[in-house]
Amino acid sequence: MSGNTARVQAVQTITNRQPMPAKMPESLSDLWATDVFTLSKMKESLPKEVFKSVKKTIEVGAELDVSIADVVAIAMKDWALSKGALYYAHVFYPLTNATAEKHDGFISVQSDGSVISEFSGKVLVQGEPDGSSFPNGGIRSTFEARGYTAWDVTSPAYIMTTDNGATLCIPTVFISWTGEALDKKTPLLRANAAMNKAATRVLSLLGHKDIATVNSSCGAEQEYFLVDANFVSSRPDLLLAGRTLFGASAAKGQQFDDHYFGAIPERVQVYMQDVEEQLYRLGIPAKTRHNEVAPGQFEIAPFFESANVATDHQQLLMTVLKNTAKKHGLVCLLHEKPFKGINGSGKHVNWSVGNATQGNLLDPGHTPHENTQFLLFCGAVIRGVHKYGPLLRAAIATASNDHRLGANEAPPAIMSVYLGSQLDNVFEQISNGKITGSLNAGVMNLGINTLPVFNKDAGDRNRTSPFAFTGNRFEFRAVGSGQSVAGPLVSMNTMLAESLDWVADSLESQLSAGVDLDTAILKTLKDIIDQHGAVVFGGNGYSAEWHKMAVEERGLANLRTAADALPVLKEAYIVELFSKFGVLSPVELASRFEIYAEQYILAIDVEAKLVISMAKTGIYPAVVKYLSELSATAASLKSFGVDLDNASMLKIAESLANMTDTVSKLSTALHKHDFATVEEHMQFCAKTIRPLMDEVRQYADLLESEVADNLWPFPTYQEMLFIK
Ligand code: ADP
Ligand code: MG
Repeated sequence: MSGNTARVQAVQTITNRQPMPAKMPESLSDLWATDVFTLSKMKESLPKEVFKSVKKTIEVGAELDVSIADVVAIAMKDWALSKGALYYAHVFYPLTNATAEKHDGFISVQSDGSVISEFSGKVLVQGEPDGSSFPNGGIRSTFEARGYTAWDVTSPAYIMTTDNGATLCIPTVFISWTGEALDKKTPLLRANAAMNKAATRVLSLLGHKDIATVNSSCGAEQEYFLVDANFVSSRPDLLLAGRTLFGASAAKGQQFDDHYFGAIPERVQVYMQDVEEQLYRLGIPAKTRHNEVAPGQFEIAPFFESANVATDHQQLLMTVLKNTAKKHGLVCLLHEKPFKGINGSGKHVNWSVGNATQGNLLDPGHTPHENTQFLLFCGAVIRGVHKYGPLLRAAIATASNDHRLGANEAPPAIMSVYLGSQLDNVFEQISNGKITGSLNAGVMNLGINTLPVFNKDAGDRNRTSPFAFTGNRFEFRAVGSGQSVAGPLVSMNTMLAESLDWVADSLESQLSAGVDLDTAILKTLKDIIDQHGAVVFGGNGYSAEWHKMAVEERGLANLRTAADALPVLKEAYIVELFSKFGVLSPVELASRFEIYAEQYILAIDVEAKLVISMAKTGIYPAVVKYLSELSATAASLKSFGVDLDNASMLKIAESLANMTDTVSKLSTALHKHDFATVEEHMQFCAKTIRPLMDEVRQYADLLESEVADNLWPFPTYQEMLFIK
């Protein structure tokens, strides 16, 4: 079918389609976590002692008693069978952003040929997937190629139902034969533990006796696009790269802001309801949904949970979004920039730390004592972002996120902290040593013994900041929409662990020198803001002035592309950070650099090849056809003495020649392979390949606006964004 016929058919199919009937939503209590092996289900099915032991591991991080695994396994299997699951899978998170699972049947063949269902503690606790094709960044080429999965009891098992049946899914970590982490979950658990240790040190120096395990929390807001599947199948770029590599802007884009928070289109609403129902069954607390800024763009935000569970749930949410879209004849795009000239998608990672005894440690609270504590934890974050900003930047560095960062729609690639005017003022006064001033008509009295009572919404919102304090948490806004949140959370928790350790050292050394606690705290805070205040910025993060000031006056890094940012992972102070806190060994960290660098290069390589093939096999023939029709018409008109305007024909011919020329330059560039280092290769992708791709596109998009619409081979922006 020629491209254009496909286009016409797609539009017809979509406009004629009957909407999926909206189901009456079931009641929340009927749905909630029905497909999850929750603590309360364990309580019903496990012997008291076993339940107590599991609960202790889950809730306070006590060591897992492996001897109870058999009992748990049987209860889990019986529950899974009752839900119709015949298979179980260890689910793990390799260093791609994907979710991996290996399915095994509960079936066990007996010596007499009969079968029983079987699931032992041994297989619950440990699995051995043939993981040799997962990226390992060289870890396993030197060792044995085995990989193990190990049960993460702190993240609940669940049933995943697809058209192919139900499967019991068990969240696991994925490690090599020699114990190196090959996944995203292991470092997250380690980083959490490191942060807990350092936070506990600080809390006990502040005089707390009863200190529960400190954990980090995460609430991730997910943006995504929906496009009708009929269009996607005739757009090789959307199909294979998840974004459009060509496409002239529609006459109308998002300039009217009429989509943002507008009424959700009916078809999408039915889709969202379906998604939410599945999320509720999986115990994922989807809470808000709305249209986003761009046409065809939406957001879903679950309520926050502990970082580890939230991370697993985030992966599940992305899976559910994509799979459900298929059922509705839609494609869910989690790419950071599917459409040029239209806002891209991100993932805001809301993050805080706290425990059962002291509560949210980033909550300003109401009493002076708690405020001291808050200021120390907040100060530790500020210090962390200043010291490890480049690491945060590296943690979100992907080929696709490069399209957002630094553009005038998304947080800049420069990592800075937004505090809001109230907190800005508090730290300014701390820095001045004049801490008795007050702000907001005496609302806050800043004597160290009578520290401020903050308003919950301290200050305005600043959408241009990549790392903003938003009342009782920080919000890391530069994370990519298709990314796992694990990497950013690992970086945040580790940098905080290091900072809190520094805070504890500072307090400890002053206290042992006889300084009183209040004075020691004030001195510590003053040191933080004096040495790290450069990272605090409340102005417009998009402005050219900030980009200049940040780099030239404040010494902050502006790592524009992933090619600039990823090598940060090799720097000595980052290697030292991760290894000191036991989060990633030098070998594990090096493997991550290798893998992310390779993914960056591969992503751009695939896109460049698509650009070449779409230009050659789709656009070129369409334009040639149009030109030949035009010139034939011009010739026959001429015989009647009528002269057709040649200018437009010339313009088309010229753009076509330019496009062809650039395509062959791109093709030549793609064949270059003699790079001394992977860093050099990445830079080549960023500085040579990408600009050539952009140039091809520029000519092609110009042609799109000149060539007869009925000859254009690919669905247009107007069709994809506005026909639903
Ligand atoms: P926004 O105004 O930024 O769009 P939303 O209400 O859409 O905010 O999302 C805010 C997210 O932050 C939710 O996932 C919410 O549960 C989460 N959140 C709220 N408090 C905390 C906290 N203390 N720690 C982590 N996440 C939190
Ligand atoms: Mg937000």
